[in-house]
Amino acid sequence: MKYACKECRRVLTQKECYYCKKETGESDWGGLLIIISPENSKMAKETGYDAPGKYALKIR
Ligand SMILES: [Zn+2]
Repeated sequence: MKYACKECRRVLTQKECYYCKKETGESDWGGLLIIISPENSKMAKETGYDAPGKYALKIR
């Protein structure tokens, strides 16, 4: 967990995002949001994240 994707905000272990298939990883990020079940999560609805996973709250 070192990078966060600038486009989808997923937290990544490498610079290339497996979801966007691009090198959109940014190492300067903060805040971690973990979504386990999007359909039951209020945060998921508010933030618009519709897949389980780890997301960054702030990316510079
Ligand atoms: Zn991405």
